[in-house]
Amino acid sequence: MKLSEHLSKELLAQYGVTVPVGRLATTPEEAEARCREIPATKYVVKAQIGAGGRGLVGGIKMAATPSAVRSEAARLIGEALVTAQTGPAGELVNSVYIEEAVDIHRSFYLAIAFDQHTGEPVLLCSDRGGVEFEQAARIDPGIVRQFTLTFDGSDDMAALRRFLAETGVSDNALEPAAELAMAAARAFFANDATLVEINPLAVRVDGAVLAVDAKISLDTNALFRHPEFEALDDGQDVPEQERIARENDINFVKLAGNIGVVVNGAGLGLATNDMLFDAGGDPANFMDIRTTTTSLQMARGATMLLQDPSVTVVLVNVHGGGMTACDTVAEGFAIAYARAERKPPVVVRLAGQNADWARTMLKDRRLPIEDFSDMSSAIARAVQVAKGGRR
Ligand code: GDP
Ligand code: MN
Repeated sequence: MKLSEHLSKELLAQYGVTVPVGRLATTPEEAEARCREIPATKYVVKAQIGAGGRGLVGGIKMAATPSAVRSEAARLIGEALVTAQTGPAGELVNSVYIEEAVDIHRSFYLAIAFDQHTGEPVLLCSDRGGVEFEQAARIDPGIVRQFTLTFDGSDDMAALRRFLAETGVSDNALEPAAELAMAAARAFFANDATLVEINPLAVRVDGAVLAVDAKISLDTNALFRHPEFEALDDGQDVPEQERIARENDINFVKLAGNIGVVVNGAGLGLATNDMLFDAGGDPANFMDIRTTTTSLQMARGATMLLQDPSVTVVLVNVHGGGMTACDTVAEGFAIAYARAERKPPVVVRLAGQNADWARTMLKDRRLPIEDFSDMSSAIARAVQVAKGGRR
């Protein structure tokens, strides 16, 4: 879930990140009135949409007076802004954020994320911040430098300042830049963010450092720990399949492969996908049916898998426990299969609570299942079918 610019800045400010003074407005009149509350001689009017890349397409406007703020707001509000990050239809601007304009001496890119390979939290920094950063980094990823962070804030501050100096931060801005980075890291960890991105991080001539633009992505799976964000979650940036799954008490992540997997429990789900990869297969999804999922919810989850044109075989791997018995999953899956227009072959492995009953149920309903008693054989077979192997 992505937080818009003004919410990202509000959150970062709570952790000590310096941001320009700003006000949100949904009408041109409000924009003019609210900008008078900002102690500034120049203003920036910024279209509030989820996507970035606004600066390159006129979504960021400078204004010298409150009446100029009003006319820039009038031009932006109600417009669909098409940026490199939106689709061709663009994104409708419902509000603008008005800020004091910062005199930017130098622009940096600063982000906190998890390293994809090591899983460690890292600070990413570049002296090529600003609107051209994405393209510059695509052409030459070497412009981004990386500093590994600790999880508990016990970072070596001298090493961090050295890193920032090597990235090009001038001496007079080193201490504030290091403090800002640490504040951003606290915000990242405390809110279960997957990304905190500040671009540009502006350095003024006097060495002051400010987040001129900010975007935060939160881990949707950790939202239950942050009920304050739930009201903001309109599910808009969640893929269709994941939204349906969430509504039906199923954890689901779309993946690139062609083997649809129906699995209960996150641990078994991860193990199944690992084993599929090891066997040369490629899962189409990660699934974890929660213990509270009913067979009808299960049916809705399975329907969406069966409808997915990339799924050429389904592997049902269930270990029935005290909470989720095999028959609940089997019943849900059978309902979905009966209704489905696409009927890919199904490989099943059912073990534990009510496994026999579940098997009988699937066979009675004439699902074209191939039944295995252990995981490795079921996985090997699913991979074989996915690769076009005949029965
Ligand atoms: P984005 O294009 O969606 O990432 O929007 P940004 O908020 O990053 O703004 C785009 C660009 O506008 C920035 O990279 C800056 O060059 C410029 N900009 C935005 N706010 C200010 C400001 O307060 N002062 C100055 N000088 N430039 C600004
Ligand atoms: Mn930006």
